Amino acid sequence: MARIVMKFGGTSVADVDRIRNVARFVRREVESGHSVVVVVSAMAGQTNKLVEFCKNVGSPSPALDMQNIEYDAVVSSGEQVTSALLALTLQNLGFRARSWQGWQIPLKTNNAHGKARILEIPETNIGPAIDGGEVAIVAGFQGIEKNSRITTLGRGGSDTTAVALAAAIGAERCDIYTDVDGVYTTDPRIAKNARRIPRISYEEMLEMASVGAKVLQTRSVELAMAYSVRLRVLSSFEEPGFADESGTGTVICGEDEIVEQEIVSAITPSRDEAKISLIAVPNEPGRAASIFIYLADANINVDMIVQSPSRSPDSANISFTMHVNDIETAADLLNKRKGEIGFSDITLDKEIAKVSVIGVGMKSHTGVASVMFKTLADRGINIQNISTSEIKISVLIDSEYTELAVRALHQAYGLDQLGG
Ligand code: ADP
Ligand code: ASP
Ligand code: MG
Repeated sequence: MARIVMKFGGTSVADVDRIRNVARFVRREVESGHSVVVVVSAMAGQTNKLVEFCKNVGSPSPALDMQNIEYDAVVSSGEQVTSALLALTLQNLGFRARSWQGWQIPLKTNNAHGKARILEIPETNIGPAIDGGEVAIVAGFQGIEKNSRITTLGRGGSDTTAVALAAAIGAERCDIYTDVDGVYTTDPRIAKNARRIPRISYEEMLEMASVGAKVLQTRSVELAMAYSVRLRVLSSFEEPGFADESGTGTVICGEDEIVEQEIVSAITPSRDEAKISLIAVPNEPGRAASIFIYLADANINVDMIVQSPSRSPDSANISFTMHVNDIETAADLLNKRKGEIGFSDITLDKEIAKVSVIGVGMKSHTGVASVMFKTLADRGINIQNISTSEIKISVLIDSEYTELAVRALHQAYGLDQLGG
C-alpha cells in the first residue's frame, strides 16, 4: 500500500462542516488503498487570534527567548484542536484515526521560537501505524526543541510539517489542499486573469515562495526539493475525485519533467516588507558587518540591501528590507547600538512592497529586466531597490502601486489568460 501525506490549510478546516468535508477527502484515499497521514492547520483566522492574545499581554519580542517559549505554546494550540476534531470525525465514520502533536512524533527543531527549523527528518513510528490501517492526523506547524519545549515553524509552517513527514515515511506524494486549485501565474486574488500552472519546477516554486507567494511555505519547497518529495497543490473546495492526474492542481517537480517552459512563469507581490535606512554610517570596514551580525543573531532575515553615498564622503547610507513583523525589533536593536555602529539617524518605512518576476527561462534569455523596468516606468511607478538572482528580478516600490504593478507585469509578459 502506498503511503501518502495530505495537508489541509486553515480555510479547509475552518469549521466543523469543513472538517467533515476533509474527512470525505481522506476517506476516498483510504478506500482506494492508501496508507494516509493527514496534516492539518488551525481553523482559518485562529492563529491570528492567538497571536493577538500574546500581543495583548505584552508584545513578545523575538529577542526575548522566555516570552517566545510561551508564545509558541499559545499559537501552536490551534492545530491541536483541528487534529483531534478531524480524528474524532473520522472515528465517527468508522475509521481508526489518532491525532499526533509535534512532540508525539517527535518533530525535533532548533529553539528559534516562532520560526524554528526542523533539525532532522524524524524517525517516526507513524509509518508503521498507518500501514497497520490507522489514519494519522498530525497537528501541523509545531515541533519540539531539545529542552522539550514546544516550537512553531513560522507562519504557513504546516506545509513544512507535511513535506518533512512525507520525506520521513517515504510517501509516494504529498498533496497540499488549499482554497485555490493550484499554483497560479500570480496571486489569483489580485489578478483575475491569472492562469493555473499545471507543472512548475522546485526551483521556480522555491523562488516564488521565498519572495512572498503564500501558497507554500519556502522551507516546505526546500525540503521537497532536497528529498525529491512529489508535491501537488489542490483545492479542497472541489469534489474529491479530481485529485487524480486529471488536469487540475499543480505538480511541483524536477525541471526535466516540464516540457514547455515559459521565460517568465510568475509575478509575485509581497506586502509584508519593511525598510530600515541608516543615515551616515561611517564608511570603514566592519560597520556593515556589525549591523547584519546583530540582526542575524536575533534571527532577523534581511533581504534587499543598498548602500549609497551620503552627504559626507566619510559616510554612507545603508538601507535594507525585512519582514514587517521584524522591523520594530530590528530598530530597537540597532538603536541600542547606535554609538557603536555610528549612524546619525534611522528611518523606518512600512509603506513598501516587493514585486518579483520569476522564470527559469531568464537563465538563457535577455531582456526580461528591461521589460520590467519599462512597464513600471510607463505606469509612473518608481523603483526604490532592485535585487536579482539567476531566475528572479525583484523591485521595491511604494505599496500603493502593488496591484497596478502586478497586473501590468502579468500582461507585459504574456501571462494573462486568453480571453481574459
Ligand atoms: P492555506 O490556509 O490552505 O495554507 P494559504 O492562504 O497559506 O492557504 O495559501 C493559499 C493562498 O495563497 C491563496 O488563497 C492565494 O490567495 C495565495 N497565493 C499567493 N500567490 C499565489 C499563487 N501564485 N498561486 C496560488 N495562490 C497564491
Ligand atoms: N496555522 C499556522 C498559520 O496560520 C500554520 C499554517 O497554517 O500553516 O500560520
Ligand atoms: Mg498556508
